[in-house]
Amino acid sequence: MSCKICEKNSVINLPNSNIYQCRKCFNRYFEKKVRKTIRIYKLIDKKDVIGIAASGGKDSMSTLYILNKILKHQNIKLMALAIDEGIEGYRNLAFLKNFCKENKIPLHTFSYKKEFGHTLDKMLKITKEKPCSICGVFRRYLLNTKAKKLGITKLATGHNLDDEAQTILMNQFRRNISASARLGPITGVIQDERFIRRIKPLYFLTEREIAAFAFLNNLKDEYVECPNAAVSYRCNLRDWLNEIEAKYPGTKHSIVNSFMEIQPILRKHLDLKKIKTCKICAEPCSQDICQACKLADKLKLLN
Ligand code: SF4
Ligand SMILES: [Zn+2]
Ligand SMILES: [Zn+2]
Repeated sequence: MSCKICEKNSVINLPNSNIYQCRKCFNRYFEKKVRKTIRIYKLIDKKDVIGIAASGGKDSMSTLYILNKILKHQNIKLMALAIDEGIEGYRNLAFLKNFCKENKIPLHTFSYKKEFGHTLDKMLKITKEKPCSICGVFRRYLLNTKAKKLGITKLATGHNLDDEAQTILMNQFRRNISASARLGPITGVIQDERFIRRIKPLYFLTEREIAAFAFLNNLKDEYVECPNAAVSYRCNLRDWLNEIEAKYPGTKHSIVNSFMEIQPILRKHLDLKKIKTCKICAEPCSQDICQACKLADKLKLLN
């Protein structure tokens, strides 16, 4: 099939609109969508220092690539932050390191082993906690604390439309609506300088579109799924949602778009608890001790 725009050979068929596009037109479509998300939701302003939470996977590499392209002419400082969880055979940061070196993007790497004393693999041997629960709490903690130290004002992540549709449904199924109020292209229901705001420039792009973009722009190393992902709730929900999407195309877009319509109401009416300060690490939290410190104590990682 030929490209609907320029009639060259197409490389991708956008499923929702059933439009075929060539590499150049698809890249243009992708960048336009990111620029529009940044503009409409005011994700970035001129004084910002942007940190990108980079794992070396297709989503974060695409975020890094496109933000570097958009921001380099605007004099907005950009750096990458990587977390090495210590998962045997999974986390490989070589591709990311090479990309940052070639593009002169400062890269800061932090590991659970160095920061908490153990790799995630070791932590899982000494606790019955679910891997993603430990991993998520420590990752959020490290990204927030390290970003503050580096002078970062906004932290960009590679979250896409599929991720957001999954999270909206997960929160709904678990009756965790207050967590949904914090979703959206930019976080920060309460603007508190102790929280680095998260921005999601790829918010309205699907996983399939990002995979195609990463492939077409050589941003993809070989893909390895985390060995702990299969046991996660998200993974089951993802497979189920993919089945529904295959039968009823457009479902994921509808979930996210209808959520965006009710989100302002949700944020307004939500009884947000006052943010406290963790008595151990002084990070912001909803109780006296933050989740990271509680978990570290449970795993005997303190002292
Ligand atoms: S799948 Fe779970 S354990 Fe693996 S990297 Fe993601 S959050 Fe961590
Ligand atoms: Zn074209
Ligand atoms: Zn704490």
